Amino acid sequence: MTSYDYDYVVIGGGSGGMASSKEAARLGARVALFDFVKPSTQGTKWGLGGTCVNVGCVPKKLMHYAGLLGAGLHDARHFGWRLGEPTHDWTALRTAVQNHVKSLNFGYRNGLRSAKVNYLNQLARFADPHTVEYTEKDGSVKRLTAAHICISVGGRPIIPTDVPGAVEHAITSDDIFALKNAPGRTLVVGASYIALECAGFLNELGYDVTVAVRSIVLRGFDRQCSEKVASLMADIGVKFKYGPLPTKIEKADGQLHVTFSDGTVDTYQTVLYATGRYADTGGLALENAGVVVGKNGKIPVINEVTNVPHIYAVGDIVEGGLELTPVAIRAGELLARRLFAGATEQMDYVNVPTAVFTPFEYGCVGYTEEAAIAKYGEENIETYLFEFASLELGAAHRSKVPARRADEFDDALPLPCLSKLVCLKPEGERVVGFHYVGPNAGEVTQGFALAVILGATKKDFNKVIGIHPTDAESFTALDITRASGQPFAASGGCGGGKCG
Ligand code: NDP
Repeated sequence: MTSYDYDYVVIGGGSGGMASSKEAARLGARVALFDFVKPSTQGTKWGLGGTCVNVGCVPKKLMHYAGLLGAGLHDARHFGWRLGEPTHDWTALRTAVQNHVKSLNFGYRNGLRSAKVNYLNQLARFADPHTVEYTEKDGSVKRLTAAHICISVGGRPIIPTDVPGAVEHAITSDDIFALKNAPGRTLVVGASYIALECAGFLNELGYDVTVAVRSIVLRGFDRQCSEKVASLMADIGVKFKYGPLPTKIEKADGQLHVTFSDGTVDTYQTVLYATGRYADTGGLALENAGVVVGKNGKIPVINEVTNVPHIYAVGDIVEGGLELTPVAIRAGELLARRLFAGATEQMDYVNVPTAVFTPFEYGCVGYTEEAAIAKYGEENIETYLFEFASLELGAAHRSKVPARRADEFDDALPLPCLSKLVCLKPEGERVVGFHYVGPNAGEVTQGFALAVILGATKKDFNKVIGIHPTDAESFTALDITRASGQPFAASGGCGGGKCG
């Protein structure tokens, strides 16, 4: 190893690259990390730390929280707070979010320094399989060599190039969290995680939001839960346009005029594309290292190793991988331990919990009901269900928007929580799928994921005594199966509990 400048060079300082580089340095390796942010299509730039901290999980969760606070104002009034007519100040929100992100960027730079990782704010590319080169500001080209190289450059949003005006005028999740002016009337194109999360918080902040759905919402997630999430979003004001998609976006008088595939034209202040992400591997000159690249720039790997044995890939650029920060972090750390500490533990991509931070959150771990049936056969699956209102939301009497009311008596928000366990009958009803729609789904799911990973059965869930009154306690007493055909919506009671 000593014939190289470094033992380990990491290209890309997002969650996976940072974690892997720091772990390798902790284990005594000589490490360099490259990170360089190319501006978005609208010119937005950010600091060290990658998508999650700058233009993903972190600012998204803060804006989601701001949205929840807005929705909570209604409940506050109901419970006696006397408040004036609320207004929302986008600039204040953006400033608060960006200040927090910048403080995290600062901490990340310090973290690399104290870990003794050499951080280079440069755009790296391969010169050969062991050599990385970059161009200094003065134009000089520098090179360094490494025994092992990890690629962790992450992904960027896809904007379809066949929609005239989209690339010029639309924003993406790379821009929304730093947007200078309030977004106003917004069209969100796409219907997965990013689209629904952005549509959700914008609606809760008071903007008029339409989501253009090409096929279904939240593809890949449990259908019943996904549709409940979307239906609740519609009940609180998000408009869903199923089918027609933009074919042209034109800007006039500061407005965006969008022509849809059904011939209709509508006007928005903001169009946000959330139509998937490509791996940002195009500028790495991977051909110089002989690394094979697949569709959308993604890199095929086996246990993080590319087709070149000393070159690795972690995070969102991995073909067939999961685009989730904690997955990238764990994969990067385990890789460093295998390379520099003789460890053998491999990343386990099964039973990865996740949550969608829509206004009514959705968390899950394991199989969807559909996937479990497809894998094990319908006769081997038992699904337990309970739909209810959490105590606080039930008591606060939130209302549907008028457009969603069937008549003058139909104004109450439907039961906002759904708890669901998908169990494998031949294995003593082992829980193979855990799904929860409702407040704090990320927190609830994180805890229960341990039980699912440890192979808990339905009986094990039943042994747990509930904490009353909570929503999560619903999982300790689910007793209605889908097969029974009985209604699974609570007609009373307090939250997820069984009392009353
Ligand atoms: P996804 O790839 O998950 O989904 C893309 C969405 O865009 C789908 O709804 C798809 O529709 C739609 N779409 C694709 N092309 C077009 C088009 N040309 N016109 C209209 N609609 C189109 O992308 P996301 O950007 O939402 O998320 C990327 C990844 O980021 C996810 O895999 C997720 O793992 C990660 N993420 C995680 C979060 C979390 O942990 N909370 C939050 C946000 C993102 P169709 O179904 O018809 O293909």
